[in-house]
Amino acid sequence: MHAIRIHETGGPEKLCVEDIPVPAPKPGEVRFRVEAAGVNFIDTYHRSGLYKVDLPHTLGAEAAGVVTAVGEGVTTLAVGDRIGSARVTGAYAGEAIVAAAHAVRIPDGVSAATTAALLLQGMTAHYLACDTFPLQPGATALVHAGAGGVGLLLIQIAKRRGARVITTVGTDAKAELARAAGADAVCVYTREDFTAAARAFSGGRGVDVAYDAVGRSTFEGTLRSLRPRGMFVSFGNASGAVAPFAPLLLSQQGSLYFTRPTLTHYTQTAEELNARAGDLFRWVRAGELNVRIGATYPLAAAAEAHRALEGRATTGKVLLLP
Ligand code: NDP
Repeated sequence: MHAIRIHETGGPEKLCVEDIPVPAPKPGEVRFRVEAAGVNFIDTYHRSGLYKVDLPHTLGAEAAGVVTAVGEGVTTLAVGDRIGSARVTGAYAGEAIVAAAHAVRIPDGVSAATTAALLLQGMTAHYLACDTFPLQPGATALVHAGAGGVGLLLIQIAKRRGARVITTVGTDAKAELARAAGADAVCVYTREDFTAAARAFSGGRGVDVAYDAVGRSTFEGTLRSLRPRGMFVSFGNASGAVAPFAPLLLSQQGSLYFTRPTLTHYTQTAEELNARAGDLFRWVRAGELNVRIGATYPLAAAAEAHRALEGRATTGKVLLLP
């Protein structure tokens, strides 16, 4: 089968299309035919070496498709079941392996493409809005990169919880998408001061919560956008990792709370995973959550997909179709 692998870390040119044997599932795992694989920022961190992986490494954490083999001891899934997961081993391939406990069944009426576009970024948006800082009606939230994969979903989930959302985007075209997702205010932060916009949006006080996965380039401005005792949720590094800082800074900026969450710790049990995915699937089937697939690429064009994602040229989800 074809797979996209790296033998050393670096830029998108390190991605190789290779012919490798179809993997066998170990006890507790299943193998599935990949119908769609999600391209996520974490894949670029694995490729660049920001997050460590053993080499050689088949890229890709998110995919959806049909089970083709089950490992010893698996009782919850069978060959032919339609599944998706955000914790796949080697999703950029014709077939991939996942622990049965990390897979969810795809309900009728939802496609594999929508599932691969939804699970990782959708469950992230879900835990951010529902658990990390459980948004209440009237709460003010700053969401960076609002036309991105997580961004468009986070705006929609924040709005359904009754929050008021100000979002940042890089271009006017992205501003339109963020508005259509329900954002109350949009700041084109490539030419406007988002801190001033966030403070004005919250009546001068500062927002209750800021969801920031842009990282290095927005860190200081985000700190200054928060109200006293507001929460800084730093959940990614699209522009580079946030530099180390002293806890005293949080005191000086208003006794702020700072957290650096990751999806794994918000899908710790099968119950939690299925509850989160279940909410998302229900909203999608009811037409209450729009999943935007901004671009699809053949598997062999994975490097091009990485360049587009890192080059701020994508909106919504990017998929690879093997
Ligand atoms: P996006 O689709 O949001 O793409 C990233 C966006 O970040 C770009 O489109 C761009 O939007 C913005 N951006 C700002 N500055 C830069 C820069 N210098 N280089 C590249 N992009 C920049 O990606 P995802 O939805 O896949 O992920 C968004 C973030 O969320 C990532 O940081 C990712 O690591 C994080 N994440 C964290 C998870 C967790 O559990 N902690 C899980 C999932 C994702 P614009 O042009 O509008 O500024």
